[in-house]
Amino acid sequence: MNARWNGQFSCFDLVAKSDDCSRAIVPVGDIEIGGDDFVVMAGPCAVESEQQLMQTAEAVVAAGARILRGGAYKPRSSPYSFQGLGVEGLKLLRKAREATGLAIVTEVMCEEDVELIAEYADLMQVGARSMENFSLLESLGRCGRPVLLKRGLTATLEELLRSAQIIAMSGNHQIILCERGIRTFETATRNTLDIAAVPVLKAVSRLPVIVDPSHAAGVRSLVPVLARAATVVGADGLIVEVHPCPDQAMSDGEQSLTFRQFDEMMIDLRPYLAIREGAVRVRPQLVVAGGVRP
Ligand code: PEP
Ligand code: MN
Repeated sequence: MNARWNGQFSCFDLVAKSDDCSRAIVPVGDIEIGGDDFVVMAGPCAVESEQQLMQTAEAVVAAGARILRGGAYKPRSSPYSFQGLGVEGLKLLRKAREATGLAIVTEVMCEEDVELIAEYADLMQVGARSMENFSLLESLGRCGRPVLLKRGLTATLEELLRSAQIIAMSGNHQIILCERGIRTFETATRNTLDIAAVPVLKAVSRLPVIVDPSHAAGVRSLVPVLARAATVVGADGLIVEVHPCPDQAMSDGEQSLTFRQFDEMMIDLRPYLAIREGAVRVRPQLVVAGGVRP
């Protein structure tokens, strides 16, 4: 490891990479993230209706997604925007899981909602705007579910790992990191995908790292190529927004893929995934949430 990184990140001892180079594998239901599989999470930005969610779930599972995303509680920049269906949205997510077998990832915005959302979600999403909500992070340490921790809009990797360390110190080591683009002076894309964050995080931390090309790009035409880039730099998976009719989406329609575009993206990724498989086979020892795996 780069000597400077060692000094910068080794204080986050529960999430930093240790001498034996062991990596954490985070189980989400019967799916393992951070191991050999490249895991794709996909679905709408927000759960809007039963029909919208069910159709999307069927489409993404058929294309190869393993986890269904969908916000029931939405952190919207404007108070006038759709704020999510709340518990009704959670119930629809549960229904979609029953119908398709997909695991569920959904966002939790505040400490008070942790217990309720943990009843429905297989993976608890901390959004970019909540990355430094320390009381939320602490309560996720006790929630009994794995956590998907998204990088804050202006957060450094050190700050991201500091937040991961807080969750781990509170008792939960099942954490997945997510690079979703950061705010820079560039305005052509919604955020700037920090592609180097993936290999840096993989070098300094033992946690799995996934990429969200949708919130990085802000436009659907760029999502597949950013997904490709994520695959090639060693990400453990993706989280992608998909909608039956993006132009009518209640949030993030411009960056949401149609079913067909998602399907094409999954096919496009195959040769890159084949290269990745060759690379992960030569990885050293793996660690499963606490224990070592041969
Ligand atoms: C989302 O996943 O819909 C979302 C709001 O993402 P982020 O927190 O990365 O902006
Ligand atoms: Mn969104």
